[in-house]
Amino acid sequence: MLYDSFGRIHNYLRISVTDQCNFRCTYCMPEEEYACAGKDELMSASEITQIATEFVKLGVNKIRLTGGEPMLRKDFSEILDNLSQLPVELTITTNGVLVDKYLYLLKKSNIKTVNVSIDSLNETEFEKLTGRNMFQRVWKNIQLLLENQFEVKLNVVAMKGHVELELENFISLTRDYPVEVRFIEFMPFTGNHWESDKVITAYELIELAKLNHDVKPLETPAHATAKKYQIDNNQGRIAFISTMSSHFCSDCNRMRLTASGKIKNCLFGQDEIDILSAIRNNLPIDLLIKESVTRKHKALGGQFSQDYKEIKAEAIINSSMIAIGG
Ligand code: SAM
Ligand code: SF4
Repeated sequence: MLYDSFGRIHNYLRISVTDQCNFRCTYCMPEEEYACAGKDELMSASEITQIATEFVKLGVNKIRLTGGEPMLRKDFSEILDNLSQLPVELTITTNGVLVDKYLYLLKKSNIKTVNVSIDSLNETEFEKLTGRNMFQRVWKNIQLLLENQFEVKLNVVAMKGHVELELENFISLTRDYPVEVRFIEFMPFTGNHWESDKVITAYELIELAKLNHDVKPLETPAHATAKKYQIDNNQGRIAFISTMSSHFCSDCNRMRLTASGKIKNCLFGQDEIDILSAIRNNLPIDLLIKESVTRKHKALGGQFSQDYKEIKAEAIINSSMIAIGG
């Protein structure tokens, strides 16, 4: 089992399988031209399996595939197939565009829950935020997942001035479909033009929702980042990931692997250990994994003030979200 120096168990690995994306979400992609990792810099399907197997030996029991857009990998089927042989709960976060192509494989790999990012239910706004006219396709694929009995969680990045206008529409979704709509507070990464004024907090959104609805907190499972709420008697629910206003680091169980095989012990951490190079040099990686976990800071990668309004985005040393893997 992996424990950090604060006694937190680490049993959840998020693997970015690519830093490429078919979307250009404003809050995620750096505005300047982003140079994706070359093919040789990325972990191959078999290297991903090799590394993931080592994490499983150390106690990991949940793996999430992310990116970039994970389904863009040409060998996505192979990656999924390999990882589905491991004794872990396998999940994925996707922008949803290629879900129809891989639906059968998702089922076959025993994936039960799929997180789909959808920041707007308005076609024009969706295109503005993602840089792609793909709303209808993503929406159809969300329906396809529901028809096929997947548990669907919808990720919405909550940006002030935008999300308030769509809050009621997202709440209506939970009335009409058994989905969890998760509002994620806007987080700062290199090149994403984050400003504290663009953050709308979970508390502010809950207060807005309460103006028209009955909003009741639900039980939050251990290690969960999202605080869930029942809204009216709706079949779905809403949830909030309050990273900026009220972090949940004290219960963190996550490690991340970037597409180029660097282990990151925190989304906001500067620390990266290159385990892909170790694998390629036939060196053992268990000690590197343990070292990374031991080096983990108590909260927010040791970089932020607890008051998000004091954060100076330019001073943060980190990569862009697309490079880290969300
Ligand atoms: N391409 C996939 C997708 O969009 O779902 C997976 C990768 S994406 C980086 C993972 C999640 O991170 C998405 O739900 C996205 O909305 C979220 N995300 C990206 N940048 C963010 C930011 N600056 N603040 C909060 N969430 C962000
Ligand atoms: Fe791509 Fe996902 Fe980032 Fe949007 S949030 S640019 S879909 S990786």
